[in-house]
Amino acid sequence: MLLIVFSAVFINVDDAFGVEANDQPAENINTHINVQAVQLVSTGYSYSLYQIEDAAKRVKAFIETNKKLPNYVTIGTQQVKMPDFLYLLVTATSNINGGNRGSISQYSFQNPSSSVEELRTGNVYKSEYISLSKQIKTSMESTGTAPSYTQSSLGKIRYESLVYMYSRIVNFYGQNKVLPNYASVNKWTGPAISSPTAPSPVTTAKMEVIVTGTGGDVTRNSYIKNNVPSSQITSQVYSLAKSGTPMITFGNGTGPKVMIIAGVHGNELPAQIAAMKMINYLNGRSIKGTVYVVPFAAPSSTAQNTRLWNGKNLNSVANVAGTPTNQIINKAKALQVNSLGDFHSTQPGGFPGKNSVFCTKSPAYESYNTAKYVSGQTGSALIAYNQAGAEYPGAVEDVSNLARIPAITGEVLSSHGIVASGSVDKSYSQMMAFLRYKNVI
Ligand SMILES: [Zn+2]
Repeated sequence: MLLIVFSAVFINVDDAFGVEANDQPAENINTHINVQAVQLVSTGYSYSLYQIEDAAKRVKAFIETNKKLPNYVTIGTQQVKMPDFLYLLVTATSNINGGNRGSISQYSFQNPSSSVEELRTGNVYKSEYISLSKQIKTSMESTGTAPSYTQSSLGKIRYESLVYMYSRIVNFYGQNKVLPNYASVNKWTGPAISSPTAPSPVTTAKMEVIVTGTGGDVTRNSYIKNNVPSSQITSQVYSLAKSGTPMITFGNGTGPKVMIIAGVHGNELPAQIAAMKMINYLNGRSIKGTVYVVPFAAPSSTAQNTRLWNGKNLNSVANVAGTPTNQIINKAKALQVNSLGDFHSTQPGGFPGKNSVFCTKSPAYESYNTAKYVSGQTGSALIAYNQAGAEYPGAVEDVSNLARIPAITGEVLSSHGIVASGSVDKSYSQMMAFLRYKNVI
């Protein structure tokens, strides 16, 4: 690995900030910290604000000297990569503004695959850079990746400039014990990020249509369009779903093989959005097995926000040859999938009407073990039946269990056709627990 020694020269860019003589107290924006720990990979390290301020000073100086981002900055004994450092910076900025000077945990993030800038030179005022810091933090937590850019009043500020801008803001705070009133932003003149040096082999997504006759434009469903993270892979999945049921594969078919399904009922939206978040999370990440994700079992039903597909309840006909769910299970059999999770939502007052995980003890007892773990990890009720196929003969879970692919059904509470608050996170946490149980991540 290339060792970069930071320049000790401190270049003062004194036009970068302005502090008004009559400085008003920091605007008090409520800091809602919504760390979705299940989807973040903790490095196990945390740093004091002082350490982050000191690192910001060195990164700022490095960029001003070298006109490029360093590969990492050393904090304590750790070499912190720039995506991780951006997260520390935006969290520090948001925390300082909220009066929180506590230490900040480091998580592992990916570089963006590219960066985008469409910018006019100008100032980003404090209220805006505070708000942007929270947006960046939230986005990184949901995608596991640093943003290619952030939309601001000046236009798109690219990733590299975000690292530079927030390094200057946090450094300014370190020097002056007050956040600057604004940060000036200029066009980035250095090289754009290139492919990062990968810490370990990364998974490359493969995509295919596994069922035809089910295609649809899922972006016609505004809940999908508005809640799924925007990214290149998201666009590719949307495009593929127009031709049929898409399946996205991470990993090369080795290790534990698991399948995640959503959208068996097209108007059960939280799991479909969570599956797309999962795809964005897994993309480019190193995993220990193979994950097959079917985010939209019937894209045409999702597009229309309807429960049925061609008048059929797809979760009651998985045992009928040729139906979409039957074809999905056949695909799982052909791939020799070790475990299958089918994710749904349930209406208040319906059955089960609560966050829950279904399973059966026979013939695949591992269904019960899996559900027990996911239930315990996510605070979802465990609903166990004795014999697969007895109560729900055509359900995806039952048909899979009867085929000796241990399966569970995840349910989260959300009225059909909409997305209840917190339901996407709950569904996502069920999926993550499922992957953790199978030692895939
Ligand atoms: Zn359902």
